[in-house]
Amino acid sequence: MNKYLFPIYAIAIGVVIAFLTKRQQSIYTKLLLSFSGAFLLALTLFDLLPEVYQHLDTKRTGLFIMCGILLQIILEFFSKGAEHGHVHIHKEDTKFPWLLFVSLCIHSFLEGFPIHQHNDMVYGVLIHKIPIAALLTSFLLKSKHMKEQIISFLLIFAAMTPLGTLVSNTTAISPIYLTSINALVIGIFLHISTTILFEASEGHKFNLSKLVAICLGILIAYFI
Ligand SMILES: [Zn+2]
Ligand SMILES: [Zn+2]
Repeated sequence: MNKYLFPIYAIAIGVVIAFLTKRQQSIYTKLLLSFSGAFLLALTLFDLLPEVYQHLDTKRTGLFIMCGILLQIILEFFSKGAEHGHVHIHKEDTKFPWLLFVSLCIHSFLEGFPIHQHNDMVYGVLIHKIPIAALLTSFLLKSKHMKEQIISFLLIFAAMTPLGTLVSNTTAISPIYLTSINALVIGIFLHISTTILFEASEGHKFNLSKLVAICLGILIAYFI
């Protein structure tokens, strides 16, 4: 059951963080983002990548991973990087941010696919979603959108990952297709996590706390 609930908890925790840290984008959210990027990248390399290579032809695996990277690049044209913690919403804009919403939903739906009993990806997705939900919520609160719109945005966004997990775990899609989708998601994860790590080193200045957060992410992923 946790594989369905954890991604929803992540959004709930993110919303709470957004309310607690109101207005100022706290240094903790940034550290959590660095940690989540390293953790997701490490889990992808330790857990998901070997799993996919076991079931799929190697060249085909590589091709799907590349397609995933490309797909995430395209999604970010529309979301402006919300999947890795960048949210740009014009304060005066009262129109519902459809492009952001749809691209986030596609991303979240796909990221539910590799979650199943036999791997730890649910933890990676859980940790990755907390800072994203926190940043997204605080930007939505600052925008001029109606409360109902913000609430439905977050509810549907929260439902997408469990929906992806449900489809991949219960429908009769052939294992080859499922593994191909998982390879695609690896590409998505590689792109967002490396972007988080890249953007964490602002101006390539040495930052001890971020380095510690990144090393912790790798270590914990290694030992679970
Ligand atoms: Zn960015
Ligand atoms: Zn994501």
